[in-house]
Amino acid sequence: MLNVPAPAFPASGSQQRAAAGGRSKVPLKPGRSLMDWIRLTKSGKDLTGLKGRLIEVTEEELAKHSKKDDCWICIRGLVYNVTPYMEYHPGGDDELMRAAGADGTDLFDQVHRWVNYESMLKECLVGRMALKPLAATTETCCALPEEKKLLNGMLPKNKVLDTSSKDLTPSYDWFQTDYLVTVVIYTKQKGMNSEMVIVDHQDGSLRVDSILRDYSYLLHIELSYAVQEDITVHIAEKVGKVEIVLKKKDNIPWSKLGQPLNSHNSFIKCTDRALLVCSSARDHIASNVSILSYNLNERSCFWMQGYSGLYYRKCKLISKTEVTHDTKLFCLMLPQSTHLQVPVGHHVYLKQIIAGTEIVKPYTPVSCSLKSDFKEPSHHDSTHLILMIKIYPSGLFTSELDHLQIGDYISVSNSEGSFKKSQVQTLEDLFLLAAGTGFTPMVKLLNYVLTNVCSLRTVKLMFFNKTEDDILWRNQLEQLALKDKRFEVQFILSEPKKEGTGKQGKISSSLLSEFVKRSKKDSKVLICVCGPVPFTEQGIQFLQDLGYSKEEVHSFTA
Ligand code: FAD
Ligand code: NAD
Repeated sequence: MLNVPAPAFPASGSQQRAAAGGRSKVPLKPGRSLMDWIRLTKSGKDLTGLKGRLIEVTEEELAKHSKKDDCWICIRGLVYNVTPYMEYHPGGDDELMRAAGADGTDLFDQVHRWVNYESMLKECLVGRMALKPLAATTETCCALPEEKKLLNGMLPKNKVLDTSSKDLTPSYDWFQTDYLVTVVIYTKQKGMNSEMVIVDHQDGSLRVDSILRDYSYLLHIELSYAVQEDITVHIAEKVGKVEIVLKKKDNIPWSKLGQPLNSHNSFIKCTDRALLVCSSARDHIASNVSILSYNLNERSCFWMQGYSGLYYRKCKLISKTEVTHDTKLFCLMLPQSTHLQVPVGHHVYLKQIIAGTEIVKPYTPVSCSLKSDFKEPSHHDSTHLILMIKIYPSGLFTSELDHLQIGDYISVSNSEGSFKKSQVQTLEDLFLLAAGTGFTPMVKLLNYVLTNVCSLRTVKLMFFNKTEDDILWRNQLEQLALKDKRFEVQFILSEPKKEGTGKQGKISSSLLSEFVKRSKKDSKVLICVCGPVPFTEQGIQFLQDLGYSKEEVHSFTA
């Protein structure tokens, strides 16, 4: 299988877009940008046609609203009237119509699960699906409160309940000395490493998310007493034991660790973690849905808290340096009370409130240079995130990001991504096809393979840019090629300013057939593709036509 969330070489255009990891954009009419949408939502116009009332919607009622001029869609049990949003949807109205009058949760998750629709569509909220208990089932979900098992009738069962890994359910314990409290998590998994544990201590609560393959074990507790900001995390890799050491603020004995918070001690699929967060949002709505004259201000405040299912912490901008005329390195410092190490090929989400609406976009952390030695992750790697970001003058998010000053804070989510280091462990040839900022996942990957993969014979990067001025870290790439004979780089320009400055053109079958040749017959190969969605889609198609198997191609996606 190709490492993409949707079928690898899907038939329909929109599925292809999902495979390439994001929304392919259709040209929008003037006055229909995201910013225009935000303005409309703030105008006070009744966008649902219900004058601010929230209602319970039956399946039959939902199905009646399935036309372009009257379109309701259910996402995670909440129903939105998306008719006014049609012309503003970057993926086009046809894409939205695929879920008209129905449950669009799966479609939504395929294409852009991370988009904060709750905030973007809050003024389109019609209400929730009428509650309907799930059919009798013997399945249970570890440590979920009873009411969480009563889920909306339209939520697919497999999204909520899972017991296949019951025997491997982790557990936790804690102990204390006069000065320290140590929380121990027994993950029961060998080969744990520090990238698999994300720890946050915020506002008196401790949250530890242990990622065990596709599952997440969450410890989430409001601590009994105050602790100091800095936390220490130790991982006993072989036995899978995680120790979090907290320093007591006051030297008093604790009778208990604290009070359990939402989803504490739950062990569920990572993709379902978001659903649990969203279900609390839905419960909140449910408790208000019967109030017919629901207070719109209150509703706005509620949504502003954000329930996209991603967990965020505020990081401080400590430096901003130019890479090219339009691209900058943003160095963010994690809070002392956070332990987060982003794995190779994974991304985080940044969140900003723009004109009162939460906007979320993915970014892939890079190393500080192409000279990093990955054998021992440096202290810097575990305390900082470095992001290489292109600023689009007309871009909603990046134009705002560009205004961040040193010392300002920005919300950064946990990391996500489908790339696994096991894909490169015994690799002989690695080919990287990057376009523009699609170079970002290649940075850590290059550093990692050149330092850690002994079997590696060749690493070749084909880097597509518009002009010479757009090439990111050109100098460093050329230096690396001189230093390490296994590495080679080629630059391809689509809009060169001068003639004769290297290869010209765009991604094509002929370019690739020359480039992605195995160093020896049957060598173990991986080809990684990243760039604008059409670039990635074309790359995948050309590689398939050239006979590369799905396992031999990885596209970086959100
Ligand atoms: P947008 O508002 O999305 O606009 C971007 C450009 O498209 C502008 O020129 C705008 O005018 C144009 N545009 C917008 N809408 C339309 C439309 N409907 N039709 C035609 N043109 C349109 N980027 C990085 O710089 N660094 C990274 O490390 C990085 N990592 C990423 C990781 C992943 C997994 C993904 C999916 C994307 C990543 N991106 C990265 C891209 C990033 O998430 C944003 O898409 C990017 O920063 C642009 O955001 P924006 O809101 O500023 O621009
Ligand atoms: P850009 O517009 O400067 O284009 C760079 C090169 O991409 C061009 O020179 C051309 O060779 C190629 N290209 C552009 N449009 C194409 C098309 N329609 N068909 C074929 N080739 C095309 O690139 P940019 O502004 O730096 O944008 C980078 C893109 O990479 C963004 O869309 C961003 O979302 C994406 N990205 C994705 C990830 C990820 O992990 N999925 C990470 C970083 C960036």
